[in-house]
Amino acid sequence: MTETITFHCIKCGNKIVTAVANAGKRGKCNKCQAKTQVPSEAAVGMEIQPATDPGRVLGGISMMLGGLGLIIFPYALASSGVGVGLVSMAVGKNPQSRLYGLGGVGISLIALAASFYLSATS
Ligand SMILES: [Zn+2]
Repeated sequence: MTETITFHCIKCGNKIVTAVANAGKRGKCNKCQAKTQVPSEAAVGMEIQPATDPGRVLGGISMMLGGLGLIIFPYALASSGVGVGLVSMAVGKNPQSRLYGLGGVGISLIALAASFYLSATS
């Protein structure tokens, strides 16, 4: 099986599929003949990972809830941040998304701990 890179022509948007071996090389779009450069594998990897991965979105929400929990210390925000973060780690499709979830859980746990501490000392 040959690994391929899929990218889009910057001029006409034509979908171009080429072998990974061509990464970083210059070529011509087979539709509009515009000069194109095959992106590197790293750049393609970034593009392939969908921003709409539910795990990543949930991880972001979790981090937001945890962050808000840190500022205004309500148990509800921080604990739901932990919950959403755990769900995010469960449904995350790639390690990066799960990292978002992990970050959300971490921030939310800190927020929870802070709110416990504050309520214990006040
Ligand atoms: Zn083109």
